[in-house]
Amino acid sequence: MEAYSYISHLHCLSCDTSYEIFSINERCSCGGPLFVEYDYSEIKKHVTPDMLRARPSTLWRYHEMLPVMSPGNVVSLDENITPILKLSKYGKRCNFDTLFIKDEGRLPTGTFKARGATVGISKAKELGIDTIAISSNGNAGAAWAVYAARAGIKAIVATPQNAPNAPKAECVLSGADLYCIDGTIDDAGVFLQKSCANQNFYNVSTFNEPYRLEGKKTMGLEIAEQFSWSLPDVIVYPTGGGAGIVGIYKAFSELNKLGWVTKKLPRLVVVQASGCAPIVQAFLQGEKSTVPWEKPNTVAFGMRVPKPFGDFLILDLLDRTQGIAISVTDEDIQETISLSMQDEGVHLCPEGAAALAGVRQLCETGWINEGENVLVVNTGSGLKYIN
Ligand SMILES: *Cc1c(COP(=O)(O)O)cnc(C)c1O
Ligand SMILES: [Zn+2]
Repeated sequence: MEAYSYISHLHCLSCDTSYEIFSINERCSCGGPLFVEYDYSEIKKHVTPDMLRARPSTLWRYHEMLPVMSPGNVVSLDENITPILKLSKYGKRCNFDTLFIKDEGRLPTGTFKARGATVGISKAKELGIDTIAISSNGNAGAAWAVYAARAGIKAIVATPQNAPNAPKAECVLSGADLYCIDGTIDDAGVFLQKSCANQNFYNVSTFNEPYRLEGKKTMGLEIAEQFSWSLPDVIVYPTGGGAGIVGIYKAFSELNKLGWVTKKLPRLVVVQASGCAPIVQAFLQGEKSTVPWEKPNTVAFGMRVPKPFGDFLILDLLDRTQGIAISVTDEDIQETISLSMQDEGVHLCPEGAAALAGVRQLCETGWINEGENVLVVNTGSGLKYIN
């Protein structure tokens, strides 16, 4: 029988426990994050790449590999498949001709956070949840507040007081309860756990529940489809909490299981800002987890995550793909925003600019080789950061 979704169970990577899908799950009882598993042999039987191509150009074309079981629960603002643009002039600055960006600034609310929100809110609706809460550096809170409004679900957002204005405005305008915290995103998370503990809500903060990651995964599915199921050699991602890059990796692993992607996986690159680079530090020291970064500070606000909860997952995928973690300065970021506007007419967000600046660094050190296809993810629109 054909199903809208071939979700099968939830699985904890830390302790190997499985959970059934009809209960409301945040983390595993061991504290580890839960991952959604699917019945891949059923997907293989019912779906082909050709069928996907004929469907509407939104991330919901991958619904068999997403966790929402009934199409009636889908809460969507039309999450169009984001374009991949070639950056020829900027590429010449690095002496190569095969540099691309995937522009996530085109999504509703202007960042890739809309992916996690459309899938996560749809699943929350399916599970009958009436209130969600999230700690965020801004863009995730905004996306979840907006999709929650569309679903008729109440949203509580906790964000650092000094976060950018645009996402805070989106929270307020869409009717969310917004708490501005004197501290970092990690402090905002602690605030939610403590101050709101008497309220009954579903905490959708990064890696705290399994469904948000499934939305992020669609970036990887799109990249694979857009590269005709033959992946780029290198993917460069500006990393904060890590859901973006972990989602891309999960997509490729699943496509491998389906046999749709057989090539070696791309080398994945984590780019962080030198003012908050816990993953880079752990990577350089060969550690499996991070040490909290003291006094995080960078213009790339989405990457101000001093102690990512999913650090071990990020470090593991770097190891598995022969990837690398590097940092760039805020000066590099500002310069790259200007250059990409002048060279290409592309308005990067500071995080996307960090990733692009990272490419130049990797060309200079010879880590990227001539002729390799390199894809940079521009995670949001530069317009969200205009003061
Ligand atoms: C959240 C965010 C990031 C970091 O993504 P993670 O999934 O947390 O690693 C990068 N860029 C922008 C614009 C963001 O909003
Ligand atoms: Zn567990």
